[in-house]
Amino acid sequence: MVDDLYQETILDHSKHPRNCHVLGGANHQAEGYNPLCGDKLKLYLRMKDDVVEDASFVGSGCAISTASASLMTESLKGLKRDEALKLLERFHDLLTTDSPVTQELGKLVVFCGVRDYPARVKCATLAWHTLKSALENKEEPVTTE
Ligand code: ZN
Repeated sequence: MVDDLYQETILDHSKHPRNCHVLGGANHQAEGYNPLCGDKLKLYLRMKDDVVEDASFVGSGCAISTASASLMTESLKGLKRDEALKLLERFHDLLTTDSPVTQELGKLVVFCGVRDYPARVKCATLAWHTLKSALENKEEPVTTE
């Protein structure tokens, strides 16, 4: 039953992706490509100080990669950089290990079934790999003021 609910959420986000647009005022961005499946996406972040103020993406890909980017951008808003990186680690563990599902993942647990389909893991993690490179973008010049 739970699996059905998870599948419904993934389907909903793949058909009606949230935050699927170019983000005005983005100061971090990165592109990701998963050649195994042909998924492509471009991720935009607007960071203020150390906090993700807004996140969005554009791209084309399979249902899993689109739903993952949609749910990821929803989850990121309001997180600090290190919280976002921690979430990335948890998400990666969820898909690649038998680690127990933790509360911190929130809605992202809907992807736990993907661990049974190794070929799709890259689809689900594409947005997150892209997030990592976006966060590692060159910082804006720092002032000592
Ligand atoms: Zn895919």
